[in-house]
Amino acid sequence: MEILYNSTRTKGNPVTASQAILKGLSDDGGLFVPDRIPALDKSVKELSGMSYAQTAYEVMKLYLTDFTKEELMDCIAKAYDSKFDTEEIAPLREADGAFYLELFHGATIAFKDMALSILPHLLTTSARKNHVENEIVILTATSGDTGKAALAGFADVEGTRIIVFYPKNGVSPIQEKQMVTQKGKNTYVVGIRGNFDDAQTGVKRIFGDKELAAQLNEKGFQFSSANSINIGRLVPQIVYYVYAYARLYGQGRIKDGEKINVAVPTGNFGNILAAFYAKQMGLPIHRLICASNENKVLFDFFASGTYDRNREFVLTSSPSMDILISSNLERLIYQIAGNDADTNAELMEDLKREGRYEITPDMQKALTDFYGNYAKEQETADTIRSLYEKTGYVTDTHTAVASCVYQKYRQETGDDRVTLIASTASPYKFTGSVMKALCGESGLGDFELADRLSQLSGIPVPAAVDEIREAPVLHDHVCGKDEMKQTVLQFLDRKL
Ligand SMILES: *Cc1c(COP(=O)(O)O)cnc(C)c1O
Repeated sequence: MEILYNSTRTKGNPVTASQAILKGLSDDGGLFVPDRIPALDKSVKELSGMSYAQTAYEVMKLYLTDFTKEELMDCIAKAYDSKFDTEEIAPLREADGAFYLELFHGATIAFKDMALSILPHLLTTSARKNHVENEIVILTATSGDTGKAALAGFADVEGTRIIVFYPKNGVSPIQEKQMVTQKGKNTYVVGIRGNFDDAQTGVKRIFGDKELAAQLNEKGFQFSSANSINIGRLVPQIVYYVYAYARLYGQGRIKDGEKINVAVPTGNFGNILAAFYAKQMGLPIHRLICASNENKVLFDFFASGTYDRNREFVLTSSPSMDILISSNLERLIYQIAGNDADTNAELMEDLKREGRYEITPDMQKALTDFYGNYAKEQETADTIRSLYEKTGYVTDTHTAVASCVYQKYRQETGDDRVTLIASTASPYKFTGSVMKALCGESGLGDFELADRLSQLSGIPVPAAVDEIREAPVLHDHVCGKDEMKQTVLQFLDRKL
């Protein structure tokens, strides 16, 4: 049965999956949501015998119903190949009584690769299906990891250009070096004087600028988004939860139908929303443990029913979660409002106008699948160190936030069922903070620290880090947060 996609802010005018992928964001500023959540149509037993690619097909075919089998299989084959450093694509590691689902084995060593390896193929296929002749301009705001993963995915992809905005002082040195050394004549990386929310708000404003869209259409361009608001990112993220569950079953760790918990280090609410969709598709998940860092706007929201971004923005050691406006939460709000676009639109208007909104007690009751908590900076560092001392396993700072929050959950509830912790980045992406947690201040540079970390963990320095040691900086443009539109126009005026 065909699935169509509605905007979270206006009733009517549903679009096909390929149209939703092409547009990224609906014209009214809303996010696209499937008109129903499909049920998994394969048993856990069947799934447990499948490769990652086969599992991806079984999950994604249920959502991208206007793609032919051939189109979808082709996208999947191009995405989940030797770009990943393990055939398992998303391996599980057991440490200290939890299962770490390692989502960082792709080209840029963060979980964003899981979806951004396939998004360019979904997008160019969608363009072909819809007879789009314009060049597609990917506009992306990044808190560090999306940018590089999107650049790697779209570099030199025919018929596309990509522009990435990142907070100039808000990403790790390795994250920045990864981005500013990006090759590909269709790539453009810009630092902004502002934080991630400024970058994201600026990008959303450009998307909503109808005059600009018309002007660019004349020049043969149209925008799309590689941010996690794109349904083409959300759907591929559902896959690894299904895959991990089937693996746990296959390894005899759980019985068929046994419920597990999933803990996710959360920023824009994309990854955990994918787990929530997986649960609604029938995957036996008990609790979704939403872990925040000191930017604990989501913890407060789950505790009080009020979402309030009016607070100080904290720069933490888990920068990919330094976010006060979690865009994908809008999809959850829409759902708990009874798929009511009007209610959701009002709340989002409150958020825009006052920086806060309050949900009704009935809506709050629909949130029992979620548990929210947060980790302070010191707790995150302590978690990295104690896990290493206990087991030899080294996690990055983001994963440590989830690990810490999972321990809090376990202590509070006594619930000791099997738990998956989404492990979202390689510790090599955040060597400064990781090594500081393990050994204290050292005064060494990030690359020297990477070598030390390798000695300590016994895991070789990943290629993604090695290859940027000596790479030349190819992007050094910095602009104010109010100059993003001009910056985009300048780049599009260039002949490639
Ligand atoms: C993006 C990111 C997150 C947050 O994921 P969301 O889907 O935005 O909630 C967590 N950890 C890492 C390493 C990331 O790159």
